Amino acid sequence: MSGESGFTPEQQQYLQGFFSGLAARGQSGGGQAAMREAPPSSHALHLDAQDRVLAAGGKLVAEETAKRKKDPFQMWDEIQDNADAGRFPKGIDVFLTKFHGLFYVAPAQDSYMCRLRIPNGILNSFQMRGLADMADTLAGGYADVTTRANLQLREIGAAQAPAVLMGLADLGLTSRGSGADNIRNITGSPTAGIDPHELIDTRPLCRALHHTILNHRELYGLPRKFNAAFDGGGDIGVLEDTNDVGFVAVRVDAGHGVEPGVYFRCELGGITGHLDFARDTGLLLRPGDCVPVAVAMIRIFIKHGDRTDRRRARLKYLLDDWGFDRFIAESEAELGRALPRLPRAACVPRRAWSRQGHIGVHAQKQTGLNYIGIALPVGRMTSRQMRGLADLAQSLGSGTIRLTVWQNLLISDIPDDKIAAAKAAITALGLQWHASAIRAGMVACTGSTGCKFAASNTKGQAMVLADHLEARLQLDQPINIHLTGCHHSCAQHYIGDIGLLAAKVDRGDDAVEGYVVHVGGGAGPDGQAMAREIYPATAFDDLPPLIERMLRAYLAHRRDSTED
Ligand code: SF4
Repeated sequence: MSGESGFTPEQQQYLQGFFSGLAARGQSGGGQAAMREAPPSSHALHLDAQDRVLAAGGKLVAEETAKRKKDPFQMWDEIQDNADAGRFPKGIDVFLTKFHGLFYVAPAQDSYMCRLRIPNGILNSFQMRGLADMADTLAGGYADVTTRANLQLREIGAAQAPAVLMGLADLGLTSRGSGADNIRNITGSPTAGIDPHELIDTRPLCRALHHTILNHRELYGLPRKFNAAFDGGGDIGVLEDTNDVGFVAVRVDAGHGVEPGVYFRCELGGITGHLDFARDTGLLLRPGDCVPVAVAMIRIFIKHGDRTDRRRARLKYLLDDWGFDRFIAESEAELGRALPRLPRAACVPRRAWSRQGHIGVHAQKQTGLNYIGIALPVGRMTSRQMRGLADLAQSLGSGTIRLTVWQNLLISDIPDDKIAAAKAAITALGLQWHASAIRAGMVACTGSTGCKFAASNTKGQAMVLADHLEARLQLDQPINIHLTGCHHSCAQHYIGDIGLLAAKVDRGDDAVEGYVVHVGGGAGPDGQAMAREIYPATAFDDLPPLIERMLRAYLAHRRDSTED
């Protein structure tokens, strides 16, 4: 030690630099931090919002009161204690535990489901192999691909919860904030970086927003869940118009008052379960602006979203109350600057999706390389298939595995001369790279085998329906059939060509599983449309022949759209 301060010269040098760094920032008066107050580092944003509700005499919903009483991220010891005692959380703690991505799904299953976060839906073979091991040792021996290009492990015992969370961290993955009132998995174009027709690679943007969320505690205080997506403008869609905020890459040519190039349109308010697509805001953003703009918008939603009524707590309802102009003005104030606008009509229209682009062999933008889209029956893979896919990706590709919002996956970077070997390996795993037009577009939520809200066994019945239709019909065009277990619409039945919403059907003394049948849904550049109900609740026993008749009638009477 030396000197009056008691610090060594090295320590003094360090401290001097440290303080002079602070001083320099203070003197300059510039920089991002000086433009506005630094964002709160705790969960003050949502506490402030709750305070305002209470000060106005409002009543917080039970979930808000729970978040107020207990910080969900201070529950590690509780999760450990529960595991040691072999018990699951009770009451409102079931909700709070979802902040860790752990869903206690009783009574459907007396176990946890763990939902991950996989930005842009892309993981590597090492992670897939590790998840297969976790599925075998800690869960039910399988994983489900979700409609947010994500993975879920199911049938996790009470004692296994901490090991699952730690295992994910070991693999460089996390489930933090994948449930409850949080920003869900950030989706991006599954062919990002390999699509010959993409305008921009969405991977850096998805990763940037993902890590921004993980590192800002105040972004975990939403009134309700929030979905965000980036569409790179290529061959496979990401259903960005079904998200709370969707960014769509567009090209702007010369002559529109902005530098020609690739920008993003920003769309807001998508929530198909409430019959709304995201709508264009008029904003034209440089790629580097998307994440800060998304964060500013999320902060406004945290401050002003409804905390007194869960049914009105999604962003759509704030937008309905305020209108886009006020919401964007508030977001610009939060951001500290105005954002440029350009009418959508001034942008080059997005190319059409390839509706079968997520199945089969497709050439990449990299000469001599290909990706293969593999159909997973309603999104489920056994641990053996997970390991096989990991081996395939590693030995024949670059080790990259890409999940899609259609509950399927792609293996990328396969050289031309290895395609035959890849096809054989996929077939040997009991999977298909050339799924029928029916099976490739079959989407199903978890259903009654794993979700307490479900009125029907969606995944199981989707397979029965696919078997029935495939045995009897040859379709020459893709069709999407979406089966969803309840009004939460996780499988987005309103955007299916055929959308099936589960319902109990009264049969005298008995209530049997069935579905309300909708037709005519669509999303993205193919044409947004909310499917309309065509048949009331119909018992599942009667459904396969009914859908078959509908498709036969369609094939017999369809018109080419160019006829009009
Ligand atoms: Fe569960 Fe309903 Fe979502 Fe299906 S749609 S997974 S039943 S909450």
